[in-house]
Amino acid sequence: MPLSKPKISALTTRLLIWYDQHGRDLPWRIKGGQKPDPYHVLVSEMMLQQTTVATVKNYYSKFLQQFPTVRALARAEVETVLQTWAGLGYYRRAKLLHACAQTLVTEHAALWPQTVEGLKKLPGLGAYTAGAMAAIAFHQPVAAVDGNVERVISRLHGLTQPPKDNIKKIAALTQALVPQKRAGDFAQALMDLGATVCTPRHPACGRCPWAAACVAHQKGLQEKIPAKVAKKKPRSCYARAYVLRDQHGKIYIEQRPHTGLLANMWALPMGPWEEEGYQHTPPIKAQWRRVEGQVSHIFTHLRLYVEVMEARISTPPQLNGQWLSAPALEKLGWPKLMQKIFHHWRQAA
Ligand code: SF4
Repeated sequence: MPLSKPKISALTTRLLIWYDQHGRDLPWRIKGGQKPDPYHVLVSEMMLQQTTVATVKNYYSKFLQQFPTVRALARAEVETVLQTWAGLGYYRRAKLLHACAQTLVTEHAALWPQTVEGLKKLPGLGAYTAGAMAAIAFHQPVAAVDGNVERVISRLHGLTQPPKDNIKKIAALTQALVPQKRAGDFAQALMDLGATVCTPRHPACGRCPWAAACVAHQKGLQEKIPAKVAKKKPRSCYARAYVLRDQHGKIYIEQRPHTGLLANMWALPMGPWEEEGYQHTPPIKAQWRRVEGQVSHIFTHLRLYVEVMEARISTPPQLNGQWLSAPALEKLGWPKLMQKIFHHWRQAA
């Protein structure tokens, strides 16, 4: 049942008071009603999708040092952006962020649209990111609903259905709580409440500013809401990676295809990723030796097992990639999967 205006107002006030006292200090966060740089907000929001705050903290400053403005990001080659992003995973986000910067610069003279509808027209900005940008960067009184917010609102209202079956209702209930003033703080307060108090498991209701009004808490359902949806088991795939060294000990790497997982990234040559098992498709004919053990890596819906093969050649043939020394490779920004494969090979070598 929708809440009355006085109840909404009381909930909003309590949450903002709690936020002033307990909100997290984060490198991208500006408290005290100032408007943050929209570019900074977008970088942090894109990084935080599917990635923990602790991990993002390490990458956020490095990324802004490399690309301090939206124009600098738009000017950069996508490969450089991917290298700076390397290790954060979900590389599609980096490409979308780059595409967004280019669109903003070429089509909007680097001036940000300030409404949710305008922001949603930029590459990579879905309903959540556009809402978060509009609220945080432009103080628009709009809701930003992600998985954390869905959980908190479902519990507050005692909604027992899985959030994905209730998306519109949750969005409307969240929007009803957004105040006209301090909308950006409210959005961040709700994020913090979900991240630090109303956590997926064992929510700390005793510390929650909404405990008195929370239906799930009153009914003892906080562990049962939101309803769990059975997760699909990730499918397994198998692939071989090839460590090819020349007479100087340099290692051959090549750029991955333009589409698919890890698209455009510099990587060790790899064979196809197959469900049936390992295929041997080395980049060149050589005396390939299998390195003992295997590497396993999880992508969202896929668990990849990798066998590492190595070979040494005295006269490298003409290939399209590049040869780098091991220290240069260590410094190369490359994806987690490649870091794991390289580490596995170095330990065994
Ligand atoms: S009272 Fe508990 S379940 Fe309800 S919103 Fe607060 S932390 Fe979440």
